[in-house]
Amino acid sequence: MNEQIFDKDVRFIKNVGPRRAVMLEKLNIKTLIDLIYHIPVRYEDRRNPVKIKNLIEGRESLLLLELSDIREVRARRFKIIKLRGFDGENYIDIVFFNQAYLKKNFQKGVKYYFYGKPKRELYGFVLNSPDFEKEDGKNEKIVPVYALTKGISQKVIKKIILNAFNEVKKIEIPDYLPQYLKEKYGFFSPGESLFQIHFPEDFKKLNQALDGMKFREIFYLQTAFFIISFKKKILSSKKLKVKKFLDKYKKVLPFKLTNDQSRVIDEIAGELEAQKNVNRLLQGDVGSGKTAVVMFFLIAVVLNKYKSIFMAPTEVLSKQHFKNIKIYADKFNIKTILLTGGNYKGKRGHEELIASDSPCIIIGTHALIQKKLNYGKTGIIIIDEQHRFGVAQRMELSKKTGCKNIIVMSATPIPRTLALTSYGDMDFSNIREKPARRKEVKTYLRDEKALTKIYNFINEKINKFKEKAFIVTPLIEESQKMDLKAAEQVYKELSEKYFIGKCGILHGRMKSKEKEKIMEQFINGDIYILISTTVIEVGVDVPEATVMVIKNAERFGLAQLHQLRGRVGRSHRQSYCVLVHSENISSYSMKRLHKMEETFDGFELAEEDMKLRGTGEFFGSRQHGFGNFKFINPVKDSKLIEASRKEVSAMFKIYKYENIPENLKNYIKNIVLKKWEIL
Ligand code: ADP
Ligand code: MG
Repeated sequence: MNEQIFDKDVRFIKNVGPRRAVMLEKLNIKTLIDLIYHIPVRYEDRRNPVKIKNLIEGRESLLLLELSDIREVRARRFKIIKLRGFDGENYIDIVFFNQAYLKKNFQKGVKYYFYGKPKRELYGFVLNSPDFEKEDGKNEKIVPVYALTKGISQKVIKKIILNAFNEVKKIEIPDYLPQYLKEKYGFFSPGESLFQIHFPEDFKKLNQALDGMKFREIFYLQTAFFIISFKKKILSSKKLKVKKFLDKYKKVLPFKLTNDQSRVIDEIAGELEAQKNVNRLLQGDVGSGKTAVVMFFLIAVVLNKYKSIFMAPTEVLSKQHFKNIKIYADKFNIKTILLTGGNYKGKRGHEELIASDSPCIIIGTHALIQKKLNYGKTGIIIIDEQHRFGVAQRMELSKKTGCKNIIVMSATPIPRTLALTSYGDMDFSNIREKPARRKEVKTYLRDEKALTKIYNFINEKINKFKEKAFIVTPLIEESQKMDLKAAEQVYKELSEKYFIGKCGILHGRMKSKEKEKIMEQFINGDIYILISTTVIEVGVDVPEATVMVIKNAERFGLAQLHQLRGRVGRSHRQSYCVLVHSENISSYSMKRLHKMEETFDGFELAEEDMKLRGTGEFFGSRQHGFGNFKFINPVKDSKLIEASRKEVSAMFKIYKYENIPENLKNYIKNIVLKKWEIL
């Protein structure tokens, strides 16, 4: 194989040169192979021209028009080319500003394809500077559209990519997919696929090409996951005997573990006792009792004379966990310490304790991964709300402590295909059963006119039962400042009009000291209503809170709404969630919100949310798992993801690790693991 050609500097490719090479570098294109892998972001379907009468303002459309008039007009300092086109029924104007040189391309009485966004003007639609091509019976039917950078046009990038292909033989682009799979699914070779992706003959071949590349991409990643978990199965040096402490743990708990909780504890305890490395994603709805599960391991590991670590995404949450866990740890005479960015300076002694081999439970925020900390013997790491952290942080904590037993928890259930792509190296445990004393949170959809009624209802709950309420104000994507304003406005109105002396406000811009003070007031009953932006989303546990009001609910994702709803209904009391929507809500959003009334299963809502809004929305803008796919879309390609998962698993069964083709193994080791930053 001629590998050097792939690494050829783009500068030396025909039509590139030093100037364009600099521009291409902005697109991360440095070599010939980079160019070949610079795949289109989308395709324009130019098979079927539409009629003028069917045009929709702003929607990109293809028109086939015979020119009836060509004029050059002067408007101040501009030269305008104005064409009039006829589609057999109607006329439309086509306008090019300051591009007089284009005039020579057009002839009266000849047909051209125009592709662009129609704009409505006084006398009908106009096309401004559309793409055009003379009709010649050979016009491109599928037009790839590339990400560009200044100085490089669509035409130029296409030409350069074609030149790149002319320098290699397609067959030389290596394939690591085992031959039997390629045959089974009828995939093209990577070279042929990539060529089709850039220069598609028809949609069928294009999709076949794309499927092949998608399959390979996910297949390689999943093979990598298998290789890693294969390595992780190598016995750990730690002998942790935990089961013998379970009876005592059950005795100190004020409740009986649910079946799901017991099952998960057994699963994990079994692995630890068999000296396997635990590497597990523990999923369960808010309030399903995940913390009660992992708390057992925090305690049992310390009783084995190792440290255990619990990392949570916010200070408020870390403190809450600390308070809660300490109660139980104390019953086993275990020392528990809290380490957050905020309290770090005051507690110098912690650093030495953490570095020593003295067993204890360490709870904290990402302050736990700061450079200067060294860890003594560590037996287990628990990470709460994993999707708030990056994969890198998980790895970092593992590296720092030398501990390979990791449990990550997520209260936002991760839809299966996403879990397969993002957490494919982990085992999954799900808790679906709710602790028995829980009542379902009654959920209602109301419009803004109902607010007074809702506020009266809250007042009744406060006066009669001393219950508490959350009022969440919408997240305004564009600006945190506007978020804050919305919250402050609601606070002002409510504290002056409906709930005098009973309200507090909580938002993301407050210092953690301030936040804490408000939370304490809320917990202690100095205030009964907490008005807040979504900062309360994670974790907060206030059993007397029974009403959750979410304003402009249509702006939230279902998974997020479900999280918020989980803040109430945390005791035997009946709780309520009122989703208040604006009056001009679309029927689509309405339908989406109705799901919240219908289902209380976080897994189901998460699936639904992902289907409707895609993964980016699903996770918010925060960093998450392995998002950098070139071909795969974790939402849309679930079938391919499942299929490749099955094939990878079958391949390991049939061939065993030893007989997996060497070229595939090497490719995974040398390229894939690095690319995805897996190790
Ligand atoms: P999660 O971490 O999944 O949100 P937690 O473990 O914090 O859930 O549990 C939520 C609440 O339910 C806590 O107050 C906890 O004490 C209580 N709880 C947990 N497990 C049970 C159970 N099996 N029976 C009754 N209450 C439980
Ligand atoms: Mg929790």
